[in-house]
Amino acid sequence: MDAIHHDADFEEQILDSIRKWLDRDVRPHVETLEHDDIYPTEMVEQMKELGLFGATVDPEYGGLGLSATTYARVVQTVSEVWMSLSGIFNSHLIMAQIVQRHGTPEQKAHYLPKFASGELRGGLALTEPDAGTDLQAIRTRAVKDGDRYVINGTKTWISNGIQGQCFALLVKTNPEAEPRHKGMSMFIAEKGPGFKVSKKLEKMGYKGIDSAELIFEDYVLTKDHLVGGVEGKGMQNALGGLELGRINIAARSCGIAKRALDESVKYAQIRKTFGKPIAEHQAVQLMLGEMATRSEAAIALTYNAARAYDRGERVDMEAGMAKYFASEAAVANSLDAMRIHGGYGYSKEYPIERLYRDAPLMCIGEGTNEMQRIIIAKQLVERNRV
Ligand SMILES: Cc1cc2nc3c(=O)[nH]c(=O)nc-3n(C[C@H](O)[C@H](O)[C@H](O)COP(=O)(O)OP(=O)(O)OC[C@H]3O[C@@H](n4cnc5c(N)ncnc54)[C@H](O)[C@@H]3O)c2cc1C
Repeated sequence: MDAIHHDADFEEQILDSIRKWLDRDVRPHVETLEHDDIYPTEMVEQMKELGLFGATVDPEYGGLGLSATTYARVVQTVSEVWMSLSGIFNSHLIMAQIVQRHGTPEQKAHYLPKFASGELRGGLALTEPDAGTDLQAIRTRAVKDGDRYVINGTKTWISNGIQGQCFALLVKTNPEAEPRHKGMSMFIAEKGPGFKVSKKLEKMGYKGIDSAELIFEDYVLTKDHLVGGVEGKGMQNALGGLELGRINIAARSCGIAKRALDESVKYAQIRKTFGKPIAEHQAVQLMLGEMATRSEAAIALTYNAARAYDRGERVDMEAGMAKYFASEAAVANSLDAMRIHGGYGYSKEYPIERLYRDAPLMCIGEGTNEMQRIIIAKQLVERNRV
C-alpha cells in the first residue's frame, strides 16, 4: 500500500473516534438492521465523515493514508460490532488501491479524491456465474471500437453492486490470448446506459450490505477508463490487491472470533446451572480456553502479515496463513459461542447467531481456504528450494 506512516498518536485518535462512533451510532441498531437486511444509509454517511472511504488512500488525494497494520485494527474493531460494515468500505478501498497503484495520473487525479470522500463509492467486479476461483475463465468481453470499448457480460456476487456507483471491472480484451491473463484488462466502470443491476442476491448472513448481479449490455467506456491506459494488465491489477484483501478478511475474522469469545466469557459468568456459573464447569472451561487461544493466534498471524506488508515485503504466504487460520477461528469460535449460550445462542435476541451466519463467508471470500493452503504450500517450496 502506498500509505504514509503516521505517528502512533494520529492512528490512536482515528481508532478512538471509530470506537466512539460504534458505541454511539452502530451498536444499538445492528440487530434491527441486520435481521431485516436493511442497508445502513445513515451509518454510511457517518463513515464518510470518519474518513473510512479514504482509509488507505494517500493524503495527497484526501485520504487518511493508514498503514496496513492500523487499517487491520480498524477493520477488526468494526467487525467486532458488525462485520457487514467493513464490507462497505473494504471492496471500495481495493478498487481505490487499484487506481492508486496502477492508474494514469489523470485517473488518479479524477477518481481518488471522489473515492476518498465517499462521493463515489463502489467495489470490485471480478466474479462471474461461471468463474470465481478460476478468474482467467471470465467471459465478460470488451471489444475495441476506435477509442472506445463496447462491453458485454455478467458479473455476480458484487458487493455494493446496488448502492455503489463505480466498480473496478475485470474483462477479456483478447479471449484468444495465451497465457489467458494476457488477454485480461481492468476498467473503471461508472453506472450508465448498458450497466444494469439485474438482481439483489439473498444471503445467509453478511446482511445489510448489498450483493448483486450486474449485467453489461453494449455498455460503452472510452479508452481513458482503462486502468493505466494499457490492455493485458487486468489480472495483475486484480491480484495486486489480494494481499491487502486477505489481511482485511483475516482482520474481519479476528473481529468475529474475538466478539464470540468476549460474549462467551461474559455469559459463562452470568448463567448458572447446578448452583454455579457455567464458567466453573470444566466442559465450558475447555471451550473458553480453546476459543481464547484461537482468537489470540488469529490476531498474532494477522498483525504479523500486516506489519510485513507495511515493511514492503512479499506476504502472499503470511497473508494466506492469516486469512486461512483467522477465518477458521471465526467459524469455530462462533459455533463454540453458540454451544456455551445454549438455547440463547440460537435466539435472535443475542448476537451469536449472527456471528455464526457471518463467519463462513470469511472462508470463501478473497480466495477460498482451499486455495490459501495451496498458495502457502507453493510459497513454502519456493522459499525453501533444495
Ligand atoms: C457474500 C459474497 C460477496 C462477494 N463479493 C464479491 C465481490 O465484491 N466481488 C467479486 O468479484 N466477487 C465477490 N464474491 C465472489 C467470491 O469471491 C467467490 O465466491 C469466490 O472467489 C469463490 O468462487 P466460486 O464461488 O465461483 O467458487 P468456485 O471457484 O466454483 O469453487 C468451488 C469449490 O472448488 C474449490 N476449488 C476451485 N478451484 C480449485 C483448485 N484449483 N484447487 C482446489 N480447490 C479448488 C474451491 O476452493 C471451492 O471449495 C463474493 C461472494 C460472496 C458469497
